[in-house]
Amino acid sequence: MNDLLTSDRLPGLIQAAYILAAILFILALGGLSKHETARRGNTFGMAGMGLALGATLVLAARNSQYGDQRPLAVTLVMVVVAMAIGAVIGAWRARTVEMTGMPELVAILHSFVGLAAVLVGFNSYLEADHLSGSIGTIHDVEVFLGVFIGAVTFTGSIVAFLKLSARMKSTPFALPGRHLLNLGILLASAALLAWFVPAEGDLGLVPLILMTALALLLGFHLVAAIGGGDMPVVVSMLNSYSGWAAAAAGFMLDNDLLIIVGSLVGSSGAILSYIMCTAMNRSFVSVIAGGFGSDGAVSGEERDYGEHREVQADEVAELLADAKSVVITPGYGMAVAQAQYPVAEMTKKLRDKGVDVRFGIHPVAGRLPGHMNVLLAEAKVPYDIVLEMDEINEDFPDTDVVLVIGANDTVNPAALEEPGSPIAGMPVLEVWNARDVIVFKRSMATGYAGVQNPLFFKDNSRMLFGDAKDRVDDIVRALG
Ligand code: NDP
Repeated sequence: MNDLLTSDRLPGLIQAAYILAAILFILALGGLSKHETARRGNTFGMAGMGLALGATLVLAARNSQYGDQRPLAVTLVMVVVAMAIGAVIGAWRARTVEMTGMPELVAILHSFVGLAAVLVGFNSYLEADHLSGSIGTIHDVEVFLGVFIGAVTFTGSIVAFLKLSARMKSTPFALPGRHLLNLGILLASAALLAWFVPAEGDLGLVPLILMTALALLLGFHLVAAIGGGDMPVVVSMLNSYSGWAAAAAGFMLDNDLLIIVGSLVGSSGAILSYIMCTAMNRSFVSVIAGGFGSDGAVSGEERDYGEHREVQADEVAELLADAKSVVITPGYGMAVAQAQYPVAEMTKKLRDKGVDVRFGIHPVAGRLPGHMNVLLAEAKVPYDIVLEMDEINEDFPDTDVVLVIGANDTVNPAALEEPGSPIAGMPVLEVWNARDVIVFKRSMATGYAGVQNPLFFKDNSRMLFGDAKDRVDDIVRALG
């Protein structure tokens, strides 16, 4: 065993395993881009991670034979115990998490990556004080940047977790002069870097700790300033930051696989953020700068939009049976109510009666990209009647009935009509152009962005109150 661990060939084998793992991760990302190949993508990802963990375990065992005085058995026990604790928590959360809880789980996982980068940075700084010359300077810059990105990711992801799990208000928390504050933190961090790099011995700890405190504040402030409607971009942006934090940790630990995987996550997260920004008509730079739209004001809440009208399930069933064309626009409430199964059944009954039923999916409906598509696919709604927002928006004027099932922000005309609204400029499903609109929800409460919805008060809209699953079940029964 000792011969194997001290063999000259082992580093090469570990590198080969890392390259293979990196290829498997790339195949995993490719697979996950389409639902038909997603399962295969996951398998590649698991195989890559298994290989990476195995190779890292061997590397840890080899390192314990050199330099580091810890006995091999102690190193192995420490690593295996840490992995076992992580595996148990991961398996438990994966089994128990509800689909609606996925975004907040992803956000909290990002915060772990950020925290890990901070801890690795401090450890790496304290251990590597023997480095000098240009190598020492490069290492110091790596440590500083790694800790900075990690700290921003850490608090930013915790705020995202709190907002997504409704433990913190989703409306923007915007301090006056917030952009100047962010800029000030960036400039102060640059000054601290200039203090940190030439500092001798452990004296650099002071600027490092000061920068960490500032970066933690920056992460909190950047994400707190963003309104609920823009959270999808933030989640994908934090995904990207967590990748760069992991890549920075890879540089500090001199681990090629971590650098490759971190860069893959960082760049794919950046591409996803860009796609989300385009879908939501937001500028990428203003999202990164934290907070846009109105200065924290929530429009519409105080405005008097008039009276809303109610309708009962049996009346809706009659309306649907007489319609030629129906469009269903689902949202987060359909996921909460798990109404996708009765919705699929209702769709089948209506199609059997010759009604043209289609679905219109907003790119940020629900709480994670592709949320509605996954739920409808799970309930076996045919793919060809599930259309993207851009594919269906022009058809609403020719549609008899639109069923808005648990959607709110994504069908809110305030996005187009009220320039001061936090969701102003976001493209929405223009359902109000249809002949009749039926809105399924439990109350007159606002959507995730905290903005009242003028759609509910339009002449052609009627509210069907109650849990979406119960109400769709009622309609299915009434359809016979
Ligand atoms: P919203 O979150 O705006 O609104 C959902 C509506 O569903 C609520 O108004 C609620 O009203 C209703 N609802 C909740 N539970 C039920 C139930 N059991 N039965 C019936 N109705 C119910 O939904 P949208 O999907 O339209 O918009 C998504 C929002 O989430 C956007 O602001 C988006 O930016 C944001 N977001 C999206 C992410 C993504 O990646 N897709 C990630 C993070 C945020 P009531 O309480 O009265 O029932």
